[in-house]
Parts: sequence; C-alpha cells; structure tokens
Amino acid sequence: MKNIFFIGVGLIGGSFAIDIKNYNPEAVIHGISRKDETLNKALELKLIDQKATIDDLKNADLVIVSIPVDATVKLLPTILDKISDTTLVVDAGSTKEAICKAVEHHKRRRNFLACHPIAGTEKSGPTAAISGLYKGKTNIICEVEKTTFKLQEKALDLFRAIGMRIRYMDPVSHDKHIAYVSHLSHISAFMLGKTVINKEKNERDIFDMAGSGFESTVRLAKSSPAMWTPIFKQNKENVIETLEEYINNLQNFKELMQQDNFSEIFKEMENTNYIKQILNGIK
Ligand code: NAP
Repeated sequence: MKNIFFIGVGLIGGSFAIDIKNYNPEAVIHGISRKDETLNKALELKLIDQKATIDDLKNADLVIVSIPVDATVKLLPTILDKISDTTLVVDAGSTKEAICKAVEHHKRRRNFLACHPIAGTEKSGPTAAISGLYKGKTNIICEVEKTTFKLQEKALDLFRAIGMRIRYMDPVSHDKHIAYVSHLSHISAFMLGKTVINKEKNERDIFDMAGSGFESTVRLAKSSPAMWTPIFKQNKENVIETLEEYINNLQNFKELMQQDNFSEIFKEMENTNYIKQILNGIK
C-alpha cells in the first residue's frame, strides 16, 4: 500500500501512522485534518509526509479515519464517495452501531471495514501519538462480512504486522459491552475527579495528598471532552444502563457503611478481588 491517508492525526491516527510507516517505509503518509495547525504539528513530528485534502482521496490505497465519532458519522459517506473502487477505508471509532448505520446503504460499503482498536491513553492530539501503541492490543472488527474479502485480507495483514490481535463482533454487542469496560470507567474517573475538586478547592492540597491510587484511578479524567461527549451521545442507552447498575452498587455500599455492616463490606471487596483473575487471564 503506497498512498496511505489519515483523516485525523491525533493520538489514534498519529500512532497508527508511526507504526505503519515503520512496517512499510515506502508508504507515503498523507494527513487530513480540520485545522492547519494540527497538520503542521503532524508534519513537524514526522507523523505524516504531506498534507492533503478530501479530494485527494481518489489516489488513496488506504484511508484511516480517526476523528471523533460524530464527525465520523457525518464524514464517512463523503469519504466513500471520493475513493476509488480499490481503496480500503477503516475507522477507529469507539462506537460502532451509528458508524455502521451511516454507510449501510452506500454503494461502496464493501470498501469499508469498521474497527475499534482497544488501545489508547488519556492524551490527545498529534503530540500524544506514540510508537508501539497497538502492539499486543485487540482490534475489534464489526460486520466483517460486509467488506470485500480482498480488502479484509489487506487490513488483517496490516493489523497483524503492527502486533494487533483481532476479535469480531456485531456493532450492537460491541456498543453494549464497551459501555461497561470503557465508557463507564471514563465517567467514573470524571466524576471522581469532580468530587475531589469540588471538596478540595485548594488544588495544592490535592497534589500533596494524592497518592498513586488516586492518580491511577482518576487518570482517565484527563481525557478529551471533545472526543468523549459524542461517544456518550451515540451510546446513550447502554451508558445509562451501566450507570444505573453502578449507582446501585455505590448506593448499596453507602447503606452498608451507614449500617456499620463492615463484614458485608469486606465480602463485597473480597468478591470484587476476582477482577485480578479476570485481568490476568486477558494479559
Ligand atoms: P484526538 O487525539 O483528539 O485526535 C482527533 C483528531 O480528529 C484530530 O486530528 C482533530 O484535528 C480531528 N478532529 C476533531 N474534531 C473533528 C471534527 N469535528 N471533524 C473533523 N476532524 C476532527 O482523538 P483520538 O484519541 O485520536 O480519537 C480519534 C478516534 O479514535 C475517535 O473516534 C475515538 O473514539 C477513537 N478511539 C480513541 C481511543 C482513545 O483512547 N483515545 C481509543 C480507541 C479509539 P483538528 O485539531 O484539526 O480538529
């Protein structure tokens, strides 16, 4: 694949660009973004070789779309309009149902592969891009049967070359499960951060007393609201369901505290320690 276009050159797109260029040094990496300053930064960091526009997509062998999910829903049909018959388009959006729906009847639906790389950090923009982000990480692919076999193969070769494992899922199940393991964790971190900030108006005190437990738990609260608001909007129903269960658990914990029922609190935490086995099992 010679001409590779990145629409969005932030953490996810930029990190893909680094690994793909390492794997395929002959490739020319083209960058497309809303803001010229973002593209200039991507050029300066050597994430991309040159700037491009949507109209240049006719020359693309591969297009990787990594912009916020609402922007992906809006732009994806236009991207498919602009490409050639042999171009592969993949996205990296954290939701999948709305994105797949946006192009379900498009005449080039078979050029598109819906993906969600389960990799990332709380940082954003071109300066957040890092090499090796995807090594050993899972890429969830949805509706694989809707992509031509030849283009599926191309994508799989590339993902495997940069060290990714592949899982297949339908978009509805993806959005349901991801609400628990990713979206709820972010809300929980944001609201933990808010609770502490509201109580500890003097930020100095937070830094002085914040141990590594607080820092690691609240890390995701540094994430970009511009990326997360559209995710919560697109996955509203599932996210509300997870929040209801989470709030019930918090409420229950509070009631046990009020009842001085510390033996039950011990049991609750002991049962939840099972998370260690689950997480070790997936490493
Ligand atoms: P990011 O670092 O903030 O980069 C987003 C990029 O999209 C920037 O290049 C930005 O460029 C551009 N952009 C922002 N708003 C746009 C809009 N309305 N229209 C067109 N372009 C726009 O975000 P990211 O973390 O790479 O996330 C990109 C995608 O990957 C999202 O769909 C996200 O759901 C998904 N994802 C994220 C993670 C994660 O942990 N961060 C993990 C897996 C998947 P400008 O500065 O020019 O606007």
